Amino acid sequence: MAIVAGKFIGLQRNPTQIGMQLNSGEFIFKNAKGEEYKVSFRKPNRKLYGEDCDGVCTKDKIFINPDRSDQTVLNASIHEFAHAFFWDKKEYEVAKFANTCSRFLYNHCKWRKIK
Ligand SMILES: [Zn+2]
Repeated sequence: MAIVAGKFIGLQRNPTQIGMQLNSGEFIFKNAKGEEYKVSFRKPNRKLYGEDCDGVCTKDKIFINPDRSDQTVLNASIHEFAHAFFWDKKEYEVAKFANTCSRFLYNHCKWRKIK
């Protein structure tokens, strides 16, 4: 499902330099059922998902809008990955989970993207 507000990726935890860089290449993973997903930093199709879409998860692809703030890219990533693993969950449950995780990582732990 698409989301329209949020916050992540490529993180750096200050002051230590733990983290990873935002990568423009594809990331591939399998969910717990063994279904494969490809993740790309690409703006979701505006005709299908509207102008304000931060991310989208289909049955085998995740698109994360790279033209958003670091916090929004973090949130959208957690949100869309959660959909890939937990399709049975309702939108508000996924949003609550992603918002909580991204708030913990970004606001509380101060994780930041490495430029
Ligand atoms: Zn969603």
